[in-house]
Amino acid sequence: MAPLTFKVEPGSKVQLDKIDPRYEAGLDRVQAEADLAKLTYEIDELQELLFGAGTHSLLVIMQGMDTSGKDGTVRKVFSQVSPLGSYVVSFKVPTEDELAHDFLWRVHMKTPGKGMIGIFNRSHYEDVLVVRVHNLVPEAVWRKRYRLINDFEHNLAQSNTIILKFYLHISKKEQEERLLAREQDPTKAWKLAAGDWRERERWDDYMAAYDDALEQCSTDEAPWQIVPADRKWYRNYAVAMTVAETLRGYKGQWLAKLGKVGEERLLELKALRAGQPQ
Ligand code: ADP
Repeated sequence: MAPLTFKVEPGSKVQLDKIDPRYEAGLDRVQAEADLAKLTYEIDELQELLFGAGTHSLLVIMQGMDTSGKDGTVRKVFSQVSPLGSYVVSFKVPTEDELAHDFLWRVHMKTPGKGMIGIFNRSHYEDVLVVRVHNLVPEAVWRKRYRLINDFEHNLAQSNTIILKFYLHISKKEQEERLLAREQDPTKAWKLAAGDWRERERWDDYMAAYDDALEQCSTDEAPWQIVPADRKWYRNYAVAMTVAETLRGYKGQWLAKLGKVGEERLLELKALRAGQPQ
């Protein structure tokens, strides 16, 4: 089967303008939507195992231009996951307190502990994207961040954090259509921000910044996945399948751990009952 996402192999070159945002991997929409529904239940089951085993955590990082669908993807893909075992953090313009610290400080505090799924809606990558495009710090500062990010993610991986990073790849044309659609639809108008149109003028600068970030920060333990995202159904399916496939790889060990814990608990209970007077 054709791959669903374009995984950035460590050390390989990234040229987003060479990747088609309307790519569909030959899938049928109706079938993909039906499969997505099943995948969301499977992700919930896998999350329960992750939670029960308590040996790993899952960090999902969502990046993409305005209107690329970060919120919508999270809503769909994790729609069946229990709020007890998952959370989303949206990283906004840093506060004064956050700016007084190193750029990873606010992010590290929000990484998921064992058993949890943590979803980052924007992330530390903003510190090599918007920060670079707007010259918020000198180049000498942001350039060093690629290395710092790789070290940070390596540290997380060392403590059993499974890291999935999705770049939602939309075309400039599709963004324009989505922004205009918000103006037409009074129920969507609340999503409008004049700033989105201003940022759009810097599209090429953002693409250059994304090319570099994806290229510099794709590692074996934390690879970037470029998700063609002009079609929402495809985007949701591709992300859900990647999450499910990744977690399936751990299912065996989590079930074994839970089996062992179950046996121990039963023995404890048996011992307790045997020791008690009737
Ligand atoms: P959304 O993520 O839905 O677009 P907002 O419209 O509130 O939410 O946008 C959040 C804004 O915060 C974005 O413009 C983003 O670039 C900005 N931002 C996030 N992290 C940083 C950062 N480290 N430095 C500067 N701006 C940031």
